[in-house]
Amino acid sequence: MAQKIVSVTRRSLDRYLEMESLLHKFFDSIGYCRENFGVNCNGCCNENVANYPKKYRGCRDLDEERLKIYGVGNLTGGCPYSSDHGCILATHKTPKCIAYICPPFTKALNEQGIDYDWFEVHTLLISILNEGKFDWWSGSKIESHYTSDEEFFAIKKKFEELLNLWASKVAKI
Ligand code: SF4
Ligand code: SF4
Repeated sequence: MAQKIVSVTRRSLDRYLEMESLLHKFFDSIGYCRENFGVNCNGCCNENVANYPKKYRGCRDLDEERLKIYGVGNLTGGCPYSSDHGCILATHKTPKCIAYICPPFTKALNEQGIDYDWFEVHTLLISILNEGKFDWWSGSKIESHYTSDEEFFAIKKKFEELLNLWASKVAKI
């Protein structure tokens, strides 16, 4: 039987969206941004993070698909997808938009025994989106790295278990 051929970038993008969904669920369950937006913070989306120049194929494909689904957004302010109620994107955020949390939020998590490192999560996301190994700090691609379905499944499972563990720590407080 003929096998369906899936392009590398489609496969990477689908995997990236799965990881994004896990993080959305985690942050939503904590509710820190929702409860603190405009109270203890000014939001972290004043700059145009979504439209930074993209060096890599996976990042450009993500942009293209976001544009098809959400359009160009509101071009009169900072980030075209920010609103008075926060980000309007339910999916297809950039790796930085998904991974970043501010120092007060990081501290609040630390106080509950949760060691969330946004740099680390950012690197994981861009690695999956672009099938490559990346330098931890600069985000520069070091080498391409083929990720099999088995390898991705193992990464995703480990990540999901970690997020569930963290969510349960917050829930107990
Ligand atoms: S990460 Fe921090 S600055 Fe950004 S919206 Fe959440 S609470 Fe506000
Ligand atoms: S896309 Fe959303 S999360 Fe990213 S900077 Fe804009 S408003 Fe913030």
